[in-house]
Amino acid sequence: MTDSSATVRPDRRAELAAGLVQVRARIADACAGAGRDPADVTMIAVTKTYPAGDVLALAGLGVTDMGENRDQEAAGKAAEVAAADVRPRWHFIGQLQRNKARSVVRYADVVHSVDSVRLARALGNAAAERERPLDALVQVSIDGDPARGGALPDSADEGVGLEAVAAAVADAPALRLAGLMAVAPLGWPPERAFARLAEVAEAFRTLHPGATALSAGMSGDLEIAIRYGATHVRVGSALLGMRPTLR
Ligand SMILES: *Cc1c(COP(=O)(O)O)cnc(C)c1O
Repeated sequence: MTDSSATVRPDRRAELAAGLVQVRARIADACAGAGRDPADVTMIAVTKTYPAGDVLALAGLGVTDMGENRDQEAAGKAAEVAAADVRPRWHFIGQLQRNKARSVVRYADVVHSVDSVRLARALGNAAAERERPLDALVQVSIDGDPARGGALPDSADEGVGLEAVAAAVADAPALRLAGLMAVAPLGWPPERAFARLAEVAEAFRTLHPGATALSAGMSGDLEIAIRYGATHVRVGSALLGMRPTLR
């Protein structure tokens, strides 16, 4: 590749390798403490704000799953990475507007942020043009504050109630209902947040036995999320460094 953004300097590669060793050790320790098999926890490298070269370097270090939260940035980065013949699993983890569904289904393997019936339908229609189904996780609001996104557990709301959203995903032939995702609400101790999430997830799996994925935990709280059953942790800053802007 001639594009300099898709190359990485040796010192950056060494930095990423060091971050990876640390994060993998944290995940292994947390799994040991929780009596869980580390093979059951997928680390998603959240590469937002970082260039395609970092994705290629991480892929070269054995990272198979990458996360992005903005369609415009992710679409370009995924194309650059694909042009280098590298094909990670792309996880879309950010708030998603319905008018971006058509773009996201072109590169994403998993969308973690399905939080309304309308979004589920838009994604389902867009994904119908794909060859293989799109894995969809329903994002759950742990504190019930609809402003920050997330479907509402224990709510019969026909637009954003958890069961209504799950049903809309399950009804879309091009989507596969894979599980749940959440972010610990600001101001909540992660312990309390993930304990609550674990309850919601357990009840959810009795209704949807195939929906076993639980996407929870980030750089600051991945150990606690693993203790409460996370199958996917989304790790940005601990792996790639502090981002210049908070997002
Ligand atoms: C940015 C982001 C992450 C990663 O956050 P870090 O604290 O940098 O690990 C995880 N999940 C979501 C939804 C994000 O937007």
